Amino acid sequence: MSFFSTRGGDCVTASQAILYGLAENGGLYVPAMFPPVPIQKIREMVGMTYRERALQVLRKFLEDYTNEEIDRALGAAYGSGKFDDERIAPLHALDDSTFMLELFHGPTLAFKDMALQLLPHLTALAAQKNDEKREIAILVATSGDTGKAALEGFKDVPGTSCTVFYPRDGVSRVQELQMTTTKGENTHVISVQGNFDDAQTGVKALFSSKDFRARMDQMGKVLSSANSINFGRLVPQIVYYFSAYADLVGRFAIGLGDKVNFVVPTGNFGNILAAYYAKRMGLPIHKLICASNGNNVLTDFIHTGLYTTHRAFIKTSSPSMDILISSNLERLLYELADRDGDLVNVWMKQLQECGSYSIGQQRHEVMAATFFGGCANERQTAAEIKRVYGKHHYVLDTHTAVASHVLNEYRSQTDDHTPAVVVATASPYKFAGDVLDALWGSKEADDFISQQKLCELTGLKVPAQIAGLESLPVRHELFCEKENMAQAVLRAFEK
Ligand SMILES: *Cc1c(COP(=O)(O)O)cnc(C)c1O
Repeated sequence: MSFFSTRGGDCVTASQAILYGLAENGGLYVPAMFPPVPIQKIREMVGMTYRERALQVLRKFLEDYTNEEIDRALGAAYGSGKFDDERIAPLHALDDSTFMLELFHGPTLAFKDMALQLLPHLTALAAQKNDEKREIAILVATSGDTGKAALEGFKDVPGTSCTVFYPRDGVSRVQELQMTTTKGENTHVISVQGNFDDAQTGVKALFSSKDFRARMDQMGKVLSSANSINFGRLVPQIVYYFSAYADLVGRFAIGLGDKVNFVVPTGNFGNILAAYYAKRMGLPIHKLICASNGNNVLTDFIHTGLYTTHRAFIKTSSPSMDILISSNLERLLYELADRDGDLVNVWMKQLQECGSYSIGQQRHEVMAATFFGGCANERQTAAEIKRVYGKHHYVLDTHTAVASHVLNEYRSQTDDHTPAVVVATASPYKFAGDVLDALWGSKEADDFISQQKLCELTGLKVPAQIAGLESLPVRHELFCEKENMAQAVLRAFEK
């Protein structure tokens, strides 16, 4: 399988797309086609483990990796006891037609682990295949969860390093401590004065700076990305949509071939894009429901076809979705533009120069046939946590609650009662203060006391992954202004 740039030109192998992350013209790598998965193959997945299902999906895209290589990488990611549930991505039924796909059983308690436990192994193999002798220097901008997941995935992986930028005042205390206490000799963590979009824009600028790349090259390093712009992040995320479907068939919640809806709490549009790819590969999906918090730029885009960042950035209780510029949307735009890279280029230029673009009526109709957009404000998010706990005794995290709220809204607006899978992206213990506040109307000043309280009140155990976090030594304290991210990276490497 070849990979093209969303902005036209370029043609690389899977391992090259994974190794270099972003195309030279600033575009994102997209597969030359969506390899079909026939329904009989999906039936076969019912009896398979997560790792076996993953092999079936990954081998279709990663053609320059052998099956043995992929399987070994999958074993290292999902088979080595790093997930606290051996099903890896278990499905929890709330009622006959509503299911929670729990993607938070990995080492950092958010769905980013699903991809970032695997990506380092795919990257190391990609370096070998392309005779890349330089150190693979991963640069990441994080709204909170990607950073720790990338650090955990890449720490002490030979031939790589991992440098994370996070918005200084834009992440929760648990998220910050998870990152700043990371061990490993090849990890760097830098806080940036600004919000997530500033950090992400800064990292993108580093990737497209010839000077900066040359400096890195002199130091024997080559840049790569672990953000969801990297195709190596996307492809492991396609797997769990197939896996969830196979589980639904396996427990007779649906018949083989029946359609389902997926509801995805969305920020950078990576997770829901993977669902769209699964649909294009033949997974029977009716609607993809895109759920946003108060930063509802995607809700408006899906309603109108006009993308505009002329709005205030709001800090919410679901910080991993506090994003106004959703990078991965570019991959959907590429499909809506009938794979016309020049047209995508025009839209992206308009976005950069004027802060908006419009895809036109016909393309908007095509998008709206597959996607539904909705959003939840802070009050609605909290109310949904309380409602679901009261009715089902199930504790939602703030991000998942946004999705759950939007599903209710979708059902009442459309009367579509197709079975729905809500993608549960984080453990409630990552955002214990806000969850506690939603359930009992008050929270503790200290997140860790909130965790204890949440445990006492709900009986849900504090996950081992974060138990004792508050007493780990802080190992990373670098800080920079958003204009000085290049110097900050160089400084971090000199240490
Ligand atoms: C990253 C993240 C999201 C958003 O996912 P995207 O792929 O950026 O759309 C949602 N919830 C949680 C908990 C996350 O960490």
